[in-house]
Amino acid sequence: MTASHFPTLLSPLTVGAHTLRNRTLMGSMHTRLETMDHAAERLAAFYAERARGQAALIVTGGYAPNPAGVIDPGSPVLMTEAQADALRPVPPAVHAEGGKILLQVLHTGRSARIAQPLGASARPSPINRAVPRALATDEVWQTIEDYVHCARLAHHAGFDGVEIMGSEGYLINQFAVTRTNDRSDAFGGSEENRHRLAVEIVRRTRAALGPGFLVMYRISALDLVEGGASADEIARLARAVEAAGADILNTGIGWHEARIPTIAYVVPRAAWSFAAARVKRAVTIPVIVSNRINMPQVAEELLARGDADMVSMARPFLADAAFVQKAATGRADEINTCIACNQACLDYIFSERPATCLVNPRAGREWEFDRLPAPAVRRRVAVVGAGAAGLACALAAAHAGHDVTLFEAGADIGGQLNLARAVPGKEEFGELLRYFRTGIARAGVTVRLGCRARADDLAGFERVVVACGVTARTPDLPGIDAPGVIGYADLLSGRARAGRRVAVIGAGGIGFDVAEFLLSDPAAAADPVARFHAEWGVDTAPASAGGLAPEQAPRPAREVTLLQRKPEKPGRSLGMTTGWALKATLARRGLKTLSGCAYQRIEAAGAGLRLHLAVGGVPQALEVDTIVVCAGQESAGALAAELAARGIDAPVIGGARHAAELDALRAIDEGTRTALAL
Ligand code: NAP
Ligand code: SF4
Repeated sequence: MTASHFPTLLSPLTVGAHTLRNRTLMGSMHTRLETMDHAAERLAAFYAERARGQAALIVTGGYAPNPAGVIDPGSPVLMTEAQADALRPVPPAVHAEGGKILLQVLHTGRSARIAQPLGASARPSPINRAVPRALATDEVWQTIEDYVHCARLAHHAGFDGVEIMGSEGYLINQFAVTRTNDRSDAFGGSEENRHRLAVEIVRRTRAALGPGFLVMYRISALDLVEGGASADEIARLARAVEAAGADILNTGIGWHEARIPTIAYVVPRAAWSFAAARVKRAVTIPVIVSNRINMPQVAEELLARGDADMVSMARPFLADAAFVQKAATGRADEINTCIACNQACLDYIFSERPATCLVNPRAGREWEFDRLPAPAVRRRVAVVGAGAAGLACALAAAHAGHDVTLFEAGADIGGQLNLARAVPGKEEFGELLRYFRTGIARAGVTVRLGCRARADDLAGFERVVVACGVTARTPDLPGIDAPGVIGYADLLSGRARAGRRVAVIGAGGIGFDVAEFLLSDPAAAADPVARFHAEWGVDTAPASAGGLAPEQAPRPAREVTLLQRKPEKPGRSLGMTTGWALKATLARRGLKTLSGCAYQRIEAAGAGLRLHLAVGGVPQALEVDTIVVCAGQESAGALAAELAARGIDAPVIGGARHAAELDALRAIDEGTRTALAL
């Protein structure tokens, strides 16, 4: 595949007084690098790496124009010249790589996690306990001035422009709709008044900074909340912002409080492009489409059919800084694709850790990784096990210059990644496997499949890394070996099938994935976007306020009961920003859950099985056709023990080191770091 496959994506675009080298935007992401030590150096290294990879335009994480506008007390503000001076190293680092960079000005309004948030009105947010105070009229005018002052400071720091954040349910969005605006002054009541905050910020920023300074406005193209804007209202706001002097419109989808997922893996690729296309039809300035666009093929298709002029990708540039460069040089199959897991980006940010990436542990840590000592000598390295940890280790070791042989007992590489990608909605794990497969082939890793390496096989290597993974735990339960009791690996790999009534033992991440697998309708795969809109209640018709429709619950494919011994509600261990969507999907499809289970025995019952258990001390018997065991894993420790017995010092990584709470995030991180330390 060559650049000619992405002619629209890779063509230049004129925006205001600037020409962008292609049509990719690295969208704004809060990273928490902004408030770490060496913040400017970290940010410069982070953004410069993306510009080196040919991202045309970058938007920083949000900077609040005043103290009330912060996300939380730890997030950045830009109010003083000293703060702007501290950011001065960032723009030149991007410019040196041929990119351009905007600073995002963000006032979170009632979403601020501070003692007294401020909003358009005193209407509390469902996701923030603190009740907002309505801004007085003079405070609104002052807020507008604060935005303009912040833009001036961005200019002073050397940024090419600003993105004015008007989506996601933040302050400007709160003013724009009746859901959160019941004011009776010049900023409430009529639609024109509700749009005044957006329009005045854009108009005054343009007036203050002149035509050479890029003004991007991020419009909420779909609110996905009751009392949100209709498509016609959004189109009128887009035209008003264009008339006020915006050079380009970026689009946002859904308020943070929306009960519809907008970027998690359950959202099909390009599911929201229809909303950006409506904005594009309303204006003459360029429009950017965003959300769940993670490969150049998807981006090219949207641009070529005219849905938008440019594509915003935030997480995909975390996953692979060289995304555009690879697309432009015929190496799209080497792109490390964002799998939309949110595990190391959003989930980290919300738990007050700096953002990084599950598939790319270097992301956000460029400054630190560049300070690690380079490998002094090329070594012969054996990596045993080609699951996520072993693949990451083999690839990073080969990139570091070592001569790497990868041993895998199975017939193919991938380990548990092969099971994850079989789960409906988790197909993106297939891209991760493709990335590793292509990467190790191009990096010259020798792969020995079907080879269960023993200590004798490893004698000729200077370094050995053990990444043999895990074996599934089998509970000690009478009847566990009865026909009809199957392991999750057998089910997900297609080696075994489940009947219509199923009990799942174990409600960890894999138990939930198995429930999703069992309750999905295979026919839905034919049109995943239409299925997603119907199931989650997204109204694609322009007239609806907020873009909401009644949810259409699909007919459950099976009766599934998910069982757990702990008394708590199942699902605690699921991802912070993705688990709720998975639980909601499964509840809609009729999943039953039982906590506080004490398993007693399994016995044959007619053509099926009977599982005897006590639930909260009360005896029960479940009549089912199939029992799927998802009771966690244990480390495959034989090789590590064998090497240790011979006095061979071999790092043990991933599930082979510690099976509990193992996931791809820890596996890839450990694999990469071990390789860099060889
Ligand atoms: P897990 O999260 O450790 O869950 C294992 C489950 O089995 C638990 O519900 C546990 O809870 C139960 N269990 C443990 N020992 C048992 C026994 N002897 N008999 C019966 N039940 C037993 O492991 P996993 O589900 O295999 O997942 C592996 C890793 O992958 C985890 O770190 C997980 O977070 C990650 N993962 C995450 C996701 C996601 O977030 N969507 C998806 C897949 C995997 P009780 O003892 O209370 O029953
Ligand atoms: Fe994408 Fe997951 Fe990486 Fe976030 S952590 S950028 S969602 S792959």
